[in-house]
Amino acid sequence: MPGYEIFGDEEKNEIADVLETGVLFRYEFGEQRNGIYKVREFEEKFAAYCGAAHAQAVTSGTAALKVALTALGVGPGDEVITQGFTFVATWEAILEVGAIPVFTEVDETLNMDPADLEKKITAKTRCIIPVHMLGAQARIEEIVAIARRHSLAVLEDTAQAAGGRIQGRHLGTFGNCGTFSFDAVKTMTTGEGGMIITGERDLWRSMSEYHDHGHDHAVNPAGRGGEGRSFIGFNFRMMELQGAIGIAQLAKLDAMIAAQQKTKALLREAASVIPGVQFRKLVDPEGDSATFFCFMLDNAERCRRVNAILAGHGVGAINFGENTWHFYPKWEHLLAGSTLSRSGWPFMEPGGRRRVLYDKDVLPATAELITRTLVYQIPVKMPAERLEKIRSALKSAATV
Ligand SMILES: *Cc1c(COP(=O)(O)O)cnc(C)c1O
Repeated sequence: MPGYEIFGDEEKNEIADVLETGVLFRYEFGEQRNGIYKVREFEEKFAAYCGAAHAQAVTSGTAALKVALTALGVGPGDEVITQGFTFVATWEAILEVGAIPVFTEVDETLNMDPADLEKKITAKTRCIIPVHMLGAQARIEEIVAIARRHSLAVLEDTAQAAGGRIQGRHLGTFGNCGTFSFDAVKTMTTGEGGMIITGERDLWRSMSEYHDHGHDHAVNPAGRGGEGRSFIGFNFRMMELQGAIGIAQLAKLDAMIAAQQKTKALLREAASVIPGVQFRKLVDPEGDSATFFCFMLDNAERCRRVNAILAGHGVGAINFGENTWHFYPKWEHLLAGSTLSRSGWPFMEPGGRRRVLYDKDVLPATAELITRTLVYQIPVKMPAERLEKIRSALKSAATV
């Protein structure tokens, strides 16, 4: 998955363009920058690549979620539904805008279960955030259809699935908007960085203005200082060096995915020796960004025994049931409502009333599934030696 594996001359040359002018800021410095606008160019190229009308670069995938939710008008009093298997950033952003995260079960796609989503919609629901976890598609068309019936916005958290598609259509373009992360471990990386894509011009304008203190970015004689603003904003601006790296990494994204898909097919073949093994359900195998390979055993106990053997061979797999960053029952700070704020916000009202309580046992289907799933991360360049080790370890594990 990580694009840092292939960081090379292309990235260095793009960076050199910026260092040449010395302009690190995405706006202004008209003459000095010599026509070089890397962040803007990255946005244009990313939007074109995804087939989206607009793209807004920001400082991280987490910032992308916050900017998108804010532009969608989500705030205190609203509920936002996401899934119980995701990275903490998804619900951090929901709490950050003052809304309440509500969690659904995941199904055999390891993403949002549309049937459970229907059950969790209330009069307070404003937005749904399906996550395309571990590189593969959520059942996004079904989710968008449900959202339409209830007049709800859909924000796709595509942080882990840049370049993923369904029948050729890019993930992130099904809902009202889609967010991406380019952090250190994502398929394409800018070190830190994020992007939001949308087909809706007004939504993009709100994002563009909010992410830069409300600046309307309208050309005027006084330059930046003379710009107007129609609402309060914040600062989530991406800098030129990140934009430069993004341009080079984007050009390599399809090749990275193709390499990962090849490795994934080999891993799947290797795991097939385990009797009764099941594989994660893929909405469209051809559009899988193939950053991870997931396989399921019949129960958590057998999963533990198989993984002990894999670990004994030096190739232990990830069991997200034990992972504290991605799996609802392990989010102890969310469950406990831990926060630095004196009032206890966002878990408590300023008056001391509890706003929300989370029970770790409310997602039994997700727990059952996740604790019997094993996962290998797929590098862009898989060393033949490691692949061979995994293959022979899986063979040994086939008998337990
Ligand atoms: C990485 C990630 C994010 C956050 O991205 P950052 O760039 O690290 O802030 C959000 N959602 C998911 C699902 C992620 O994996």
